Amino acid sequence: MLACALATAGLLIAVGVTPAVAAEGGGGEPGSATEQPGPHSAEQSPHTDPHEKSGLEHQQQRLDGAIDETQADLDQSSAELVAATSALEAARIELDRAQEDLAEARGELSAAKSLDRQMQHKLHQAVRRLREARAALAESRAGVARQEETLGQIAVQNYQSGDPALLGLSMVLHSQDPSGLSSQLNSVRSVMDKESATLDRLEVSRILLEVQEEEVQQARERVAVQREEAAANLERKRALASAAQDAEARVADLAALRESAHSAAVSAREADLEHLRGLQQEQLRISELLEQKAEEARLLAAAAAAAAASAQGAVDLGRRRSNGFLDFPVNTYITSHYGMRFHPVYHRWALHDGTDFGAPCGTPIRAAASGTVLATYFNAGYGNRIILDNGFHRGVGLGTSYNHLSSDSVSVGDKVKRGDIIGYVGTTGYSTGCHLHFMVFESGTAVDPLNWL
Ligand SMILES: [Zn+2]
Repeated sequence: MLACALATAGLLIAVGVTPAVAAEGGGGEPGSATEQPGPHSAEQSPHTDPHEKSGLEHQQQRLDGAIDETQADLDQSSAELVAATSALEAARIELDRAQEDLAEARGELSAAKSLDRQMQHKLHQAVRRLREARAALAESRAGVARQEETLGQIAVQNYQSGDPALLGLSMVLHSQDPSGLSSQLNSVRSVMDKESATLDRLEVSRILLEVQEEEVQQARERVAVQREEAAANLERKRALASAAQDAEARVADLAALRESAHSAAVSAREADLEHLRGLQQEQLRISELLEQKAEEARLLAAAAAAAAASAQGAVDLGRRRSNGFLDFPVNTYITSHYGMRFHPVYHRWALHDGTDFGAPCGTPIRAAASGTVLATYFNAGYGNRIILDNGFHRGVGLGTSYNHLSSDSVSVGDKVKRGDIIGYVGTTGYSTGCHLHFMVFESGTAVDPLNWL
């Protein structure tokens, strides 16, 4: 099954005309393919100005190609805009996250700074308390020393003054008098008790001070460790905050880049749209001009016919053919007719703007009528195509077009005769298999080829 995938009203812009819904098939009988029409040169009617018309149609073909390209540009710039928009969106989300991270890192840094300050303060306090404890200890030692000295002096004085209390043991050892001995012993014990109590007190207070110093020292060391930890923590937080700041800067740069890429994509798409609108307007203008030319040609032909009739004294205005003016461009069967049909790819109803002939790729294609090659070019939809200006017939400017060709064998401006080989069947453009998509134009408007075949 050779289905021509080319059935979209949008593609009709390629010939710059409004879509004409198929008139019910003009009655091309299957057998008419081989029917040979009469002499064709006689059927050529006067043109208004073939060069001007041909120039316009060339211009139209060029516009057609330019519109295809611009539409492709627009598709691409639209896709790029979509990509740029989603990239920008992602960058913005990333930037938000980086800014949150940075805020968190800065919060932690600020807490670390405050902890560090507290620890520093505690350390200062501990150092001061240690200094005070050491001073107290030194003072206490000095006091002990002073008291020891005082005691020593008392002992020396007692000894020198013969105080029995300090004459002490030697006397006790040599005494013969029990009562005197007892009294002396009491006296000695009393002095010794006094001295001992003083020394004990001193010893206690010295030990207490040493304990206190030890405690203060330990506290200082603990605080010093905490202070070191706080400082290290501060350093870590500083590094983290700095890294977060770098990351935020990097992401901000990225977001700025994405922002400008997005703007560029928006501008590119707007430029493509603008370009396309301009081309379409131009296309419309050319199309109107072509219609105008066709109308002028029709009037001229009518005038010429009237002049000829009056010159010959005969009226021969009815030399019209109901069908059969055009030959089959390939001697084969029709696989798809002109008209609205359900599009196999786009799944919507659209105009199939020509007649499909099934034939293997490479089959020669012949001019359906004599004419001039108006255009040979590639179109994304129609593939390689040839457009012939077949002259003025039946009150219209007649054109034929041969599409999806594998190759052509004519050039723009060539005069071709009916039946000349102009190209070969192919499957270029929107086509699902080898076939010829044959089109007929009446003054620039695509019509059902069966009206003419
Ligand atoms: Zn087709």
